[in-house]
Amino acid sequence: MTDTSGSSRLSLRVRGLAPSPTMAMDSRAKALKAQGRDLVNLTAGEPDFPTVRAAATAAVEAIREGFTRYTEAAGIRPLREAIAAKLARDNGLSYRPEEVAVTPGAKFALYAAMQVLCDPGDEVLVPAPYWVSYPEQAKLAGAVPVVVPTAESDGFVVRAAEIAARLTPRSRLLVLNSPSNPTGAVIPPDELERIGEVVLRHPRLWVLSDEIYERLAYDGTRPRSFAALSPELWARTVTINGFSKAYAMTGWRVGYTAAPDPVARPLANFLSQTTSNATSVAQSAALAALGGGEPEVAAMVAEFGRRRDYVLERLRALPGVRCTTPGGAFYVFPNMRGVLGQGAAADGKVVADTESLALRLLEEAGLATVPGEGFGAPGFIRLSYAASMETLAEGCNRLAHFLEGLRRAG
Ligand code: PMP
Ligand code: GLU
Repeated sequence: MTDTSGSSRLSLRVRGLAPSPTMAMDSRAKALKAQGRDLVNLTAGEPDFPTVRAAATAAVEAIREGFTRYTEAAGIRPLREAIAAKLARDNGLSYRPEEVAVTPGAKFALYAAMQVLCDPGDEVLVPAPYWVSYPEQAKLAGAVPVVVPTAESDGFVVRAAEIAARLTPRSRLLVLNSPSNPTGAVIPPDELERIGEVVLRHPRLWVLSDEIYERLAYDGTRPRSFAALSPELWARTVTINGFSKAYAMTGWRVGYTAAPDPVARPLANFLSQTTSNATSVAQSAALAALGGGEPEVAAMVAEFGRRRDYVLERLRALPGVRCTTPGGAFYVFPNMRGVLGQGAAADGKVVADTESLALRLLEEAGLATVPGEGFGAPGFIRLSYAASMETLAEGCNRLAHFLEGLRRAG
């Protein structure tokens, strides 16, 4: 029994806080691999490419030059300037460098923004399927996550009408993530504008626009930045982005927020009281990535596009499996409901839900995926195609073979 009154009592905040399921599955897969298990790991939300060269070189240089001390909490000036310039050039967003804050990863940028904007009881609207950490971070801020459903038949695009239907006087924050993790859905420009109209009708509502997968879009899609819709919406948006995905820099931990001054200031204060600066050396690397990483980014995106097409074709050939076409990011999110309920004749163990499907894929087929439950979407699993073609081919073979076995077992 948990002692809830004595010395081992933990804060209400962390009671029931589970580890991030994406990180947990990835660590589990990595641990099994380290033990020598033959495993194909398609859990990881991280590029398999090396960090862009310019970033790595700049970091080595920074260490050599002794750039290893505290920096300004919200980041070094040249990086904040370069981010502001990037946002102007690529996204049509006008921020002063003072309105940009560099954080240890975009995950902490999101956390900090929620801490700055939400009071206990406030509602945070989260379109589902959602990235695992949004609802948990909302709860850590004392807020209440409110799920906004999307439809698979609609490509998982969040619709303005669904958002409007869930607004209350307590609504404080709307999280947008386009391209989306886990579905890859990109919000089309006309829908983004309709969402903008809804936001304008609710003066208390802010938008947290997580644009971390912005560069990873296919078929000529250019995801638009929410804050670029109008000056009124700019004034109510915190734009979040980072270096992990586009520049293959997951381990470096550099993300950022861009927000109007009244929010940027407390955000910087919040950073100065919590993390202090993102690692000095990693900031130097990020600055160099913005300057010289482009050719590698373009090559990565082209390769991700090829892999996406390959995995989609393989998945769609599997009986009982259906999969929408993701417009961006590097995940596919197939609907596995057609294969659930099978497997009884083998050992009496029916695969009842996607959590047990993912577990059995891991244990019996040596294929690590993330079940949809953690994304608020039971019945689906997430596979990352940020892996080599050979790995993807082997992963698809294993999935096909496992499902074939289930089918035969009836
Ligand atoms: N947002 C989304 C949607 C993500 O998938 C990730 C990946 N971890 C992040 C934010 C955070 O990225 P990072 O902390 O590595 O910058
Ligand atoms: N965002 C990545 C993913 O969803 C990395 C893990 C995490 O930060 O949750 O797999």
